[in-house]
Amino acid sequence: MSSRPQSSEPINRPISQPDRFAPVTATVDLGALRHNVRTLQARADGAKLMAIVKADAYGHGATAVTQVLREEGVRHFAVARPAEGVRLREAGIEEQILVLGAPFPDQLSVYTTHDLSATISSVETAEAACQHGRSDEPIRAHVKVDTGMGRIGLSLEDARETISQLSEASGVLLAGIWTHFATADEPDSPFTQTQLNRFTSLLDALDSPDSVTGRIHAANTGALLTIGGRAHDFSTPLVRTGIALYGLTTTPELRDRIDLQPVMTLKARVTHLKTVEPGTPISYGARWRASQTTRIATLGVGYGDGYPRLCSGRASVRINGHQHPIVGTICMDMCMVNLGPPDKSPAADVEVGDEAVLFGPSSPTLYDVADWAETIPYEICCGISPRVPRRYLNSATSGVPHQEPRVQTSLSSF
Ligand SMILES: *Cc1c(COP(=O)(O)O)cnc(C)c1O
Repeated sequence: MSSRPQSSEPINRPISQPDRFAPVTATVDLGALRHNVRTLQARADGAKLMAIVKADAYGHGATAVTQVLREEGVRHFAVARPAEGVRLREAGIEEQILVLGAPFPDQLSVYTTHDLSATISSVETAEAACQHGRSDEPIRAHVKVDTGMGRIGLSLEDARETISQLSEASGVLLAGIWTHFATADEPDSPFTQTQLNRFTSLLDALDSPDSVTGRIHAANTGALLTIGGRAHDFSTPLVRTGIALYGLTTTPELRDRIDLQPVMTLKARVTHLKTVEPGTPISYGARWRASQTTRIATLGVGYGDGYPRLCSGRASVRINGHQHPIVGTICMDMCMVNLGPPDKSPAADVEVGDEAVLFGPSSPTLYDVADWAETIPYEICCGISPRVPRRYLNSATSGVPHQEPRVQTSLSSF
């Protein structure tokens, strides 16, 4: 536990040779991640953070992200599936890891073998945990109570009895009790209050509250930003935060409630340039035609990289500081950009190999892409596909006290 994480190796790993030629990259700013986790720790006001690193840390790379977060003092992590937890164990992560998904009762051995905490989501999983755990190798259990999310979890009627059974079972370590909000990203949601009331009534009604030695948790990022301290006003509380670690809020409306820095920037290079005559069609379906003589850039990024096809005809990108619209249908591996009249700036200055920013800290942002794609920020960052190489950048953590100066990672240049 006490050994320092050997962060430099996996984080600064060289880009593999084939990846160096990729026309699209996701830059992951670990300095921004540090800024965000410190900001969240301050906001959680004494409650510990449980960092949610499921879905490969929302597309940012679970191993690298988790290494940085443990350096920042985070001691609780959560993933969605056992395999994600096993991968973190294999990467040397020794902190607590909760699997948020419902376990299959006959697959509990993966939890004890890899010391993963199991979500006890039904009476059946509780019984299976009691049978599976042994006193010399207990299973760590976080009881999930469904207070209104309607996804997984024990009903309020069953929860009390099940919690007392688990607290008495010799092979079970009752490590937590938790619930999940359905509407916490809406400010002043009465339903969030209802869920919170149901949860606190249950906690108050436990036969012997002292027997619960574990953690109590309810808040996600939305709850932390809307109901604040009331969402973690428990003994030994945790705040489960995911999206905010990555510099985003659940909805754009919550952006101004906290100072976060976006962690991911998606960039693609210009792979081809041409000048087309008026009337020339561009891309599948020939749905867009140039209305005048136009310089067209082709970018090496498409929906096969997770850049949504719904952005066709809606999105813009930034090249050399100028915004340009994407025109025509976005393809699997490419898309086209209208640079404007060919002979003058900015079109005349663009060369093959130049970088286009698809989203980043300044416009266009990931919120813009989510808006164009009619979805939420989560789906955009989670959807950046594995074939897009991640480049890890250790930028200086600005404006945060007690920072250690970080060495700029030298990135292999394009
Ligand atoms: C994903 C998830 C979270 C994190 O939600 P954010 O909105 O990203 O903070 C918290 N709790 C549960 C149960 C989750 O599935």
